[in-house]
Amino acid sequence: MAGIYIHIPFCKSFCSYCDFYSITDNSLKDALVQSVIREASLRSSYLDGETVETVYFGGGTPSLLDPATVADIIAALKNIFPFSGDPEITFEVNPDDVYEGVFNELKKAGINRISLGVQSWDDRRLHYLGRRHDAAQSARALELVFSEGIKNVSVDIIYGVPGMTTADLKADLEKTFSFPVTHLSAYHLTIEEGTRFGRMKKEGKLKETEEEISSSMFSLLGKVCREHGFIHYEISNFAREGYISRHNSSYWKQVPYLGLGPSAHSFDRRSRQWNVSDVRKYIKAVSNGEIPCEREELDRITVFNEYVMTSLRTMWGIDLTYVEEFYDKELHDYLVNLSGKYIRYGLMKREKNTLVLTDQGSMISDNIITELLADL
Ligand code: SF4
Repeated sequence: MAGIYIHIPFCKSFCSYCDFYSITDNSLKDALVQSVIREASLRSSYLDGETVETVYFGGGTPSLLDPATVADIIAALKNIFPFSGDPEITFEVNPDDVYEGVFNELKKAGINRISLGVQSWDDRRLHYLGRRHDAAQSARALELVFSEGIKNVSVDIIYGVPGMTTADLKADLEKTFSFPVTHLSAYHLTIEEGTRFGRMKKEGKLKETEEEISSSMFSLLGKVCREHGFIHYEISNFAREGYISRHNSSYWKQVPYLGLGPSAHSFDRRSRQWNVSDVRKYIKAVSNGEIPCEREELDRITVFNEYVMTSLRTMWGIDLTYVEEFYDKELHDYLVNLSGKYIRYGLMKREKNTLVLTDQGSMISDNIITELLADL
């Protein structure tokens, strides 16, 4: 099993909170697409012949590509890598890029999962976040996607925005669930350096949400999603039965993935690679047959700690059988011993051969995870 991530590094403008790599000059779009396809052939052996189960177009703004180009990329990938019979192929869409017929064209191109960047249903908050769309455009996008018969539809929501209340979050969630969406990614706002919000924070013009309000929002989020029949399968991700994102899950289960495009990361269980965050340098290097990336060899403990960090944030938790088989008995016993006190405090539970955080444990997941990291 393996996944492919494709980074489309173009945006019409920058949102106030975002630190993903992208540029606003999209004159290099065609050259970039050709380079992504070339990079895929140059790295055709990276996944060791594993079957590709998922493809994810992220960014940046993939919806700036026209669907015919998306079809070309998917066809090229299928020529280069072995694909499973029913791959999950996700495409991120910004509501302001949606037009009548686009979802039909994307479906024909091979896309079977849409992730829509709604972020909020409040126009004032959208404006504050620096988004280009309004709530009406999000509603229209959702109407269009469902009218095309695409059922696997995820919505992104941001909470913990300065000034936002739990009632505001509830309103955003209820509006989202008034559509038949099958997946929700809800992220707490983080203020990153180098963003507009980061600069505002430095200048004292932005006050971050208090921790107490953030944790009330997190509890409310879980409660409202459960009431609507959604499974809370990862700290920030919720899905209806049968619609858990296969691509996201593979990151948390240490499935190897290949990242194509500027700034994209790849992981093969032994090393991590990340491409240069510069469209021009990327295109130039790939046209010379080189992959412009840095590489970090991962030792056993680093890979183990990454597994602990990511898996404990999911409903599947730490699979002790996997730890014993893929790592060793020493790390297995280390986890069993250390988790004892959290189980006694009701912060963790052992189910069959897994260790999972309880709801109470999830509230302080960062602290528990930090204590479980190994430095043997
Ligand atoms: S949030 Fe999306 S659209 Fe906004 S700047 Fe970041 S990548 Fe671009």
